[in-house]
Amino acid sequence: MLKDQDRIFTNLYGMHERTLAGAKARGHWDGTAGIIQKGRDWIVDQMKASGLRGRGGAGFPTGLKWSFMPKESDGRPAYLVINADESEPGTCKDREIMRHDPHTLIEGALIASFAMNANAAYIYIRGEYIREREALQVAIDEAYDAGLLGKNAAGSGWDFDLYLHHGAGAYICGEETALIESLEGKKGMPRMKPPFPAGAGLYGCPTTVNNVESIAVVPTILRRGPEWFAGFGRPNNAGTKLFAISGHVNNPCVVEEAMSISFEELIEKHCGGIRGGWDNLLAVIPGGSSVPCVRGENMRDAIMDFDYLRNDLGSGLGTAAVIVMDKQTDIIKAIWRLAKFYKHESCGQCTPCREGTGWMMRVMDRLVKGEAEIEEIDMLWDVTKQVEGHTICALGDAAAWPIQGLIRNFRDEIEDRIKAQKTGRRSAIAAE
Ligand code: NAD
Ligand code: SF4
Repeated sequence: MLKDQDRIFTNLYGMHERTLAGAKARGHWDGTAGIIQKGRDWIVDQMKASGLRGRGGAGFPTGLKWSFMPKESDGRPAYLVINADESEPGTCKDREIMRHDPHTLIEGALIASFAMNANAAYIYIRGEYIREREALQVAIDEAYDAGLLGKNAAGSGWDFDLYLHHGAGAYICGEETALIESLEGKKGMPRMKPPFPAGAGLYGCPTTVNNVESIAVVPTILRRGPEWFAGFGRPNNAGTKLFAISGHVNNPCVVEEAMSISFEELIEKHCGGIRGGWDNLLAVIPGGSSVPCVRGENMRDAIMDFDYLRNDLGSGLGTAAVIVMDKQTDIIKAIWRLAKFYKHESCGQCTPCREGTGWMMRVMDRLVKGEAEIEEIDMLWDVTKQVEGHTICALGDAAAWPIQGLIRNFRDEIEDRIKAQKTGRRSAIAAE
């Protein structure tokens, strides 16, 4: 279990002051100017050495992403955009940072922006996060008043402005290019990539989009050193990580833990175990709704990191939103609910996603009731394969993968429901 002194987020539960004074007392904003004065290359190299992989879900190496930004200005301004549009079902970790530890994010924004030659950064926060927005704005105002933002921010010699922009409730605006479109005042629809934002992002300028947690851990990594951060987790899966555990555990929570912790330890140490005990565990979605579910019996010894969950279990760490379902769960209905969500949130711009999400949801409607034919299971699988990898953004994959996980892991249950429904229908006809 991670020791208290190794936690980056020391106020995750709001037990201490979230004010600037409170943040400083916990070690934040310590030596910020000195870090900046070590220079851009030093910061980017340290971030690469730390092994930090993006905490928004995709796990792209953060230092590498930063290195895509032009080293010298070509006349266009550069921007950092912080993705706080946390909307992935099950995911509520960035929320805790913003409402209880906002200065970790603000200090990280200054350092990261300097490293990418950006004099301005935007935090795009989910529209429903009203209290979080208020807390963040108070913290930003405090930082301006204290000279930590604005001209010669924190005495570093770097001028830096930070803006808070709130979304309007569309899941797709969490996709980085849709988010950029929305920031520009347009309808939030994903752009084709490439070009990636580092080449042409906000207002056509070099832009890096990073998740809240990815930015908030930066100052501590630079203060304690990349080796310290890389010392947690397995190779290629470094660091500490916020896990948001929900569903049928005795104590759902958000907790910072070492990457590569076992699922059993995570649940026993922090959640008081599975409701009804381990024999009652049916399935787990280990990384937010976009990754396939895993059968309970395969999860107990699972290593909670990017590589194990993908390579060994065919799922993913995603946002580390761990959704636990016990044997009282109707798993077909649970995945149907996700199918309905993705159909609702599809922006409709590309055909496989627009038509495929509707098609998948309609078949799922019938599977829930057991009214489909057995052959439709394979047909549904084929449709997920037509959607996966054939769309402009990852929402298409995100809609296809939970259904693939269901069919791969719970095919017998789907077939049993169809057979039971048919038997029931035959008995009813015979009785008439
Ligand atoms: P992605 O793999 O396309 O990209 C990840 C990041 O790396 C992006 O910033 C992208 O610009 C960059 N990148 C990737 N390849 C690059 C290249 N060749 N050159 C330059 N930059 C490159 O994934 P994505 O579509 O950004 O994100 C998908 C993930 O988002 C899913 O895995 C899901 O878990 C997660 N997600 C999170 C939330 C949330 O609430 N946090 C919501 C929805 C989805
Ligand atoms: Fe829009 Fe879906 Fe295409 Fe993404 S995959 S651009 S959400 S239609």
